Formats: sequence, structure tokens, C-alpha cells
Amino acid sequence: MRLRNIVKSYGAHLAVDDLSLTVADGEFVALVGPSGCGKTTTLNLVAGLMELTSGEMWIGDRQVNDLDPKDRDIAMVFQNYALYPNKTVRMNLAFPLQMRRMPRPEIERRIAEAARVLDIGHLLERRPRELSGGQQQRVALGRALVRNPSVFLMDEPLSNLDAKLRVQMRAELKRFHQDLKATIIYVTHDQLEAVTMADRMAVMNGGRLQQYDAPDRIFAAPVNTFVAGFVASPAMNLVPAEVAENGAVLTGAAGWRLPLRDADADRARRAPSRDVVLGVRHSAITLHDGPGEGRLPGRIYTVEPTGDVTFVHVQVGDATLVASTPPGRRLQPDEAIWLELDGTRLHLFESAGGRALPGV
Ligand code: ATP
Repeated sequence: MRLRNIVKSYGAHLAVDDLSLTVADGEFVALVGPSGCGKTTTLNLVAGLMELTSGEMWIGDRQVNDLDPKDRDIAMVFQNYALYPNKTVRMNLAFPLQMRRMPRPEIERRIAEAARVLDIGHLLERRPRELSGGQQQRVALGRALVRNPSVFLMDEPLSNLDAKLRVQMRAELKRFHQDLKATIIYVTHDQLEAVTMADRMAVMNGGRLQQYDAPDRIFAAPVNTFVAGFVASPAMNLVPAEVAENGAVLTGAAGWRLPLRDADADRARRAPSRDVVLGVRHSAITLHDGPGEGRLPGRIYTVEPTGDVTFVHVQVGDATLVASTPPGRRLQPDEAIWLELDGTRLHLFESAGGRALPGV
């Protein structure tokens, strides 16, 4: 499936601003971004539930811009499953096929197949209210599956489930994708769902595509501070800094000095301005009780034990950085502490505009 330069405007407001995206057959793509970034609008445009302002959409080798939703060969799964409450599961699954005047034996065959894939065979004679949330979600998936569409469009399908069930359904959905080699476009504001399930993530902000890449690339090489701050939890720490000594050192508000390794120094030297943003993930920070070469002096703001790992929020000048440490260490708020940053895992961004400084 291909989107080329698609635009959707509401008056002067661009909800989707020049989005181009190619989704390979069998690929699971997650559209992610904060509320209002244009994810749902994009999905609705693909589904044909809204009209494009401009641009082109292709599914397979057909341009679908002007096709009716029912002729686009897609199936949607919504967050509020939209099951018919008075019909049994079997009838819910059969209904979209009956509407297409599919012969009865073929309908039965497809229902049996969906029931097998989704393990809902024992639920076929129940009505939606007699099902758990997870079971209803599986039926909603089944209703999309029986149509055997070219593309599944899913809009936050797990958001109505409780946290535990969401994790379980996440694994099931991933398995569903792997088994069927289905092409899926999945909208979520939950970056963890995207990271765990998707082959590629499209990170959007303000209607514009920021980065389209495999989750590990988005994690390892975010193209700007927005993407860096959006993926992973806790997100990457972003600290204002200044380039000094011709790129060899970064300095910061609390008087800290951080020597850079050569590759980063080359980047810093080429920065359009000396004002930059230093990015570092919590896992690339080691905490020390005393000062040392290149260590950033800070003060503990708060300590968050989570069981497996303890997150420590540390104030460094005006910035607060989150570091992580194994549990069990004695750490008190307001104590002085020193941060050692892994020099091989630093990110550097332009201060104005937030773009990652390019490598050499
Ligand atoms: P959320 O996660 O909150 O659902 P989203 O990323 O899906 O957000 P969209 O629903 O696609 O965002 O909305 C994108 C932008 O378009 C928002 O700024 C929204 O206010 C605006 N918008 C959406 N629908 C309309 C409409 N019918 N009229 C005017 N503006 C709209």
C-alpha cells in the first residue's frame, strides 16, 4: 500500500500534512504520535471514511482515492469493537459476508477458519455481552479476518482492555500477524505497543511524518528531539548544552564539562550553532557517589523503585535527567550524586529545530 503526498485540511488547519508512506505486503506498520497528530485522520482517509484534500492512495496496484470504502478491500478494527449486541458471535462474523452475498458454505468455511485462528470456536453461539473484553476483541478481529482483506486497519484496538489483558492481546495480535502474514496499519498513542508489535513505526507530529523506520532504528537513531522524546519510557533525557573547545567538550548550565569521543566531536564541530541538545538514555548513565573526569554533578530529586530497576530523577542545573540503577541501592532525595554518561551512546541535536546532528 502506498500513500503519496496526502493532505487533509480542515479549513486552514492541516490535520495530515504531505504524508508519504509505503507499506509492504505482509508488513505491520504502527502510526504513532501524541493526541491530535493526525493518526486517526490518516487511517480514516485510507479507509475511505473521509475525503482527501490532495494526494494519492494505492492499495496493491489500484489507486483507491475515489473508491467507496466497501470496494477498497480493507477491514477496520475499532477500539469499541462495534459488535452487534443482539447477534451471536457466529452471526456477527457472518453478517459482513452475507451483505456481500457470499454463498452459505463459503461463509461457514471462513467462520470456521477464523474461529480456529482466534480460538473462539467455543464462543460462536454467545452474544457479545456474554464475552469478556478480550474475547470481544478477538471477535472484532474475526469479523475483519473473515473478509480476507488486503489491508487491516486498526485504530487503538486494545485501548479498552485492562493493562494485563492488553499485554496478552498484544502478543496474540503479533502472532495473528505472523501466522497470517497480514498487512496491518495500526494506530496507537502507546509507543510500547508500537515498539513491541510493529515491523516499522511511522512517528507523526502536527500532521507531519517525523520518522519512518524499524523500532530499533527509531530507538537507536531518532532523527530529532521530538522522536527522541516520544519513544521509550522513560524517554531519552534531553539536556541543553554548549559546544566548547572546537567540539572536544560539551559544557552545561551547572558548570559541567563532558569530553566527547572523536565521532561526536566531529558532529559537534559542524553544528550550525554552538547551542545544542545532548540526548542520553537512562540506561546509558551510571550513578556515582563522588566526582570524576567527565561526570555531571547533580542532586537527587526523586527515587522510583519499580521492582526490577530503580529510576532516579536527578537535577543537573536546570535539567532533570532520569537514570536507572539496580534495586537495593540506598538513595535519598536531595543527596549529591554524579552521573557518568556512556560516551558511545550519546545523541546530539541542533538546539533550534531539534534535528539530529548528521554524522560525517
Ligand atoms: P487522538 O490520538 O487524540 O485520536 P489523532 O492523532 O488520531 O489523535 P486526529 O483525530 O487525526 O488525531 O486529528 C488530527 C487533527 O485534526 C487534530 O488537531 C484535530 O483537532 C483535527 N480534526 C480532526 N477532525 C476534525 C474535524 N472534523 N474538524 C476539524 N478539525 C478536526
